[in-house]
Amino acid sequence: MLSTWGDDVRIKVHPSLCVGSGACRQFASTVYQLDDEGYLDLHLLQVPPELEHDAAYGASACPARAITVIADAPARERRAEGQQ
Ligand code: SF4
Repeated sequence: MLSTWGDDVRIKVHPSLCVGSGACRQFASTVYQLDDEGYLDLHLLQVPPELEHDAAYGASACPARAITVIADAPARERRAEGQQ
């Protein structure tokens, strides 16, 4: 079954929790772009599957736990099985 958002990985952000530490960008600069004041000011990001690891790494570095990576389990299983 195909998801409605393809194979992209969704990242939910809670900007009200962000304290502007910059750790997400420090550990995953390809995924997380901060605003001019150093905050992650958005609610949802979608990245291609090849950035899932970076996204999770950056999220795990967040001291405010403001980032949740939502992996697409069916797409992950298809990739593991070599299907697209
Ligand atoms: S690591 Fe967390 S607190 Fe720091 S800038 Fe990123 S989202 Fe904000």
